[in-house]
Amino acid sequence: DRLIAATEQPQDYSQDHAIRPKTLADYRGQPQVCEQMEIFIEAARGRKEALDHTLIFGPPGLGKTTLANIIASEMDVSIKSTSGPVMEKAGDLAAMLTNLSEGDVLFIDEIHRLSPVVEEVLYPAMEDYQLDIMIGEGPAARSIKLDLPPFTLVGATTRAGMLTAPLRDRFGIVQRLEFYSVEDLTYIVTRSAKLLGLTVEEGGAEEIARRSRGTPRIANRLLRRVRDFAEVKSNGCINKEIADLALNLLNVDTHGLDSMDRRMLLAMMEKFAGGPVGVDSLSAAISEARDTIEEVLEPYLIQQGFMMRTARGRQVTDLAWQHFGLKQP
Ligand code: ADP
Repeated sequence: DRLIAATEQPQDYSQDHAIRPKTLADYRGQPQVCEQMEIFIEAARGRKEALDHTLIFGPPGLGKTTLANIIASEMDVSIKSTSGPVMEKAGDLAAMLTNLSEGDVLFIDEIHRLSPVVEEVLYPAMEDYQLDIMIGEGPAARSIKLDLPPFTLVGATTRAGMLTAPLRDRFGIVQRLEFYSVEDLTYIVTRSAKLLGLTVEEGGAEEIARRSRGTPRIANRLLRRVRDFAEVKSNGCINKEIADLALNLLNVDTHGLDSMDRRMLLAMMEKFAGGPVGVDSLSAAISEARDTIEEVLEPYLIQQGFMMRTARGRQVTDLAWQHFGLKQP
């Protein structure tokens, strides 16, 4: 597993409970999302209604699950959580729906991975709070209709484009999470450190923030690794010097690139004169699967402006030549 992977890793679980924000006030960054959600929540509470169904989308590790839990706690209701791929049969969703109390939040992570049969059950549930489901098979099959209590579906997805139109249209509120600024991540690292009882200086928190790829999950993970260095190599205080030393040793550079990122960019520069190079040639040159390049490696590098996709293939940018101190041929 890459240290800078944005997806959840087992090492993240242990301290997650202590540092995950529980109120909107603690949810740092995403100003537009927070401002809007505060109003929607207050209005729904005032009317004593369930909050409108809410879709949250954005890359992994930016706080979708956290926001879903905050919505439930700010609405003062319970949350039941599941995920798209876990629900295989219509009955799995029916069981979740019939377990809800009035106003509750049903959180479905990776909602773009719901199977079509499950999605069919979701439509009337979202629209009219009706459960409409077939049980049994063949001649004994019966259709059952049940009233459900008003509830809020909160769906999270990393791939908004993969949601079917009828599902997307049934969400009254749609929120898109953005990558976090270094300033916001510095605050998040400082807050996590405090909650974990660690001493961190502003410069140390900022150094971790800068290398965290705009992602709170990565920032918290790097904080834990730097802490080990601070405890072993010095007096436990996380300052800029220790953060710098630790992250360099961990192979996470000043822009949050790791050895895999660097290997790909260097191959493009040294073997293909910076490109354009076809993704298959690149894949052969660095012995990584085409999917890995397209889904894991290049999104962050493109977003950060180190490379681009052109009609003739992948090409590195001036920024990449500068970052590696190489001369453009
Ligand atoms: P996602 O569901 O989008 O993959 P999570 O909600 O699980 O991401 O967030 C990952 C981690 O990042 C959480 O453990 C949480 O502590 C932290 N985090 C996310 N968003 C914020 C935020 N706005 N402020 C502070 N910490 C955050």
